[in-house]
Amino acid sequence: MAESGATLSNLSTESRVFPPSEEFAAQANATAELYDRADADREAFWAEQADRLSWSKKWDKVLEWDAPFAKWFVGGQLNVAYNCVDRHVEAGNGDRVALNWEGEPGDSRTITYADLQREVSKAANALTGLGVGKGDRVAIQLPMIPEAAIAMLACARIGAMHSVVFGGFSPGALKARIEDAECKLLITSDGQYRRGKPAPMKENTDEAVAGTTIEHVLVVKRTETDVPWTEGRDLWWHDTVETASDQHTPEGFDSEHPLFILYTSGTTGKPKGILHTSGGYLTQSAYTHHVAFDHKPGESVYWCTADIGWVTGHTYIVYGPLANGATSVMYEGTPNTPHEGRHWEIVQKYGVSIYYTAPTLIRTFMKWGDDIPAKFDLSSLKVLGTVGEPINPEAWMWYRKNIGGDRCPIVDTWWQTETGSTMIAPLPGVTPTKPGSAMRPLPGISATIVDESGTPVGNGEGGYLVLDKPWPSMLRGIWGDEERYRETYWSKFAEQGYYFAGDGAKYDEDGAIWLLGRVDDVMNVSGHRISTTEVESALVSHPTVAEAAVVGASDEMTGQGIVAFVILRGSAAKDGGDDAIKALRDHVSKEIGPIAKPRQIMVVEELPKTRSGKIMRRLLRDVAENRAVGDVSTLADSSVMEMISSGMQEGKED
Ligand code: ATP
Ligand code: MG
Repeated sequence: MAESGATLSNLSTESRVFPPSEEFAAQANATAELYDRADADREAFWAEQADRLSWSKKWDKVLEWDAPFAKWFVGGQLNVAYNCVDRHVEAGNGDRVALNWEGEPGDSRTITYADLQREVSKAANALTGLGVGKGDRVAIQLPMIPEAAIAMLACARIGAMHSVVFGGFSPGALKARIEDAECKLLITSDGQYRRGKPAPMKENTDEAVAGTTIEHVLVVKRTETDVPWTEGRDLWWHDTVETASDQHTPEGFDSEHPLFILYTSGTTGKPKGILHTSGGYLTQSAYTHHVAFDHKPGESVYWCTADIGWVTGHTYIVYGPLANGATSVMYEGTPNTPHEGRHWEIVQKYGVSIYYTAPTLIRTFMKWGDDIPAKFDLSSLKVLGTVGEPINPEAWMWYRKNIGGDRCPIVDTWWQTETGSTMIAPLPGVTPTKPGSAMRPLPGISATIVDESGTPVGNGEGGYLVLDKPWPSMLRGIWGDEERYRETYWSKFAEQGYYFAGDGAKYDEDGAIWLLGRVDDVMNVSGHRISTTEVESALVSHPTVAEAAVVGASDEMTGQGIVAFVILRGSAAKDGGDDAIKALRDHVSKEIGPIAKPRQIMVVEELPKTRSGKIMRRLLRDVAENRAVGDVSTLADSSVMEMISSGMQEGKED
């Protein structure tokens, strides 16, 4: 057990290791020498990666670092949309499928690279016709339909910036984002399918747009929902874009030309408008998609299940895969519409070989039961990925066995909206994997775990995860707020010049990296700093538990006491009685030590999550400490908090 006073305790040990199979290693895109090559000359390594792209003007200098401001591939020019679309057509791959799109109601569309070139060109011409030009901001709130990707690429093509807002966000959230970025145009749809039924969209966006800088609203018809209409301002996509010319010559923009603004998920508080630029972002996105997923153009069928409204959708649905000429699956709907096997049905239908999702969904699949994926042919799968939260070792094992057939390497990819693309992940075919560990920084990336004073911790110790060298796809700032940028990311270790990501992590005895959740969520129990992740993973390793969230609540005796909220698995859910709770407390004690034994365990039906599926512990802390619940604007389902709060009150009376 770690001593009290350590930055972060190291409680759990994991002995399971999965080295790559010889067969996989023999065909892998990545090789072990990548690590050495990158270490030997980082800038030369990134210059090589930038050669994955087509530059209309070659850069003069790889990196200019005036901390905390980076410029990558200085003096270079490129068009991001040309790189994602046209060059594949020019290379003779116009007939290759770019998007296999699957609608929620069961309709589908197949879009080749040649189709995409025509569609993006038309949209670029239409946007120009509406007076949108270089540097202008375009808000996009669309369901997961091909037009979302087309709209993003059209912006990139003409040098306008997009600000994509998740389709489920309220008018207020959209309005705040439109106002923050002073967007000129909004691209939206009449409605969107949600759990099998059309729901209105345009009606809500109208509310958001009123009184803002928006000049036009471009509306894609998706659900045939009746919509309110403002003549002069509103235009149908099918009238405006479909009738535009499909010829458009892309212009090269500076490598540092802004590409997009994207607001973070809002797990910890008010979302931040993260700014990304072109050359460095696209370079690292293409590189990581190639090596971390072992993507083979023309061969792999790739599916990232994220929503386009999150950074994962930007980097690993649109920019990374398209830059690499990938054939992707894009799915519009929810995973249980019309049945809980929908994802596996899609994997089987398209022969998906690379599947990338979030731990929250994996835990949901576990809850639904092994028998569901077992009904489908998943033998096409070769690589599995996860992102968004630390993955509990038991969920990882479940994923490996039930989805990956015990044969697919799992890449646990740690990164953030701010980092732009993956930073820490195993290389399939090269790096052995351990259930629950993101393993090590990718070649070219430098990350360390440090203590409060900024000194690196040793193996077997925990601390703060920092990035100590600039990377190509790093954020270039928070939109319109340089001070907040410096303060949020660069002030904690200002002396060392480290970027501090907000996450806690540890090295295990072999030096592999384990993410331990947000440092703001760390619990202090009798002087031991305990991560939420390790206690949650201990709970999830009990056969009755599907999901768990723990928080520290103030405690007279111990400083803080651990309060756990758990969702039980299907058959166990009926028995949430005292014996079951005692068994869980004892289980945690046995797994990681008596210090981590929860003071209280609440059985709940649901946990508060952001729209991107991350657990919002700060709200649970409010409940555990009997406070009014804080900002819930990024919560997916606001009724969850009422349910949990009232359950807590009942629990107290017992
Ligand atoms: P906000 O910054 O507004 O609170 P957020 O941090 O949830 O929102 P994102 O940028 O979408 O917004 O998420 C990045 C965070 O997600 C990381 O800082 C980390 O906490 C978590 N995360 C992402 N991938 C992983 C992973 N593979 N393992 C552990 N944690 C991860
Ligand atoms: Mg964050």
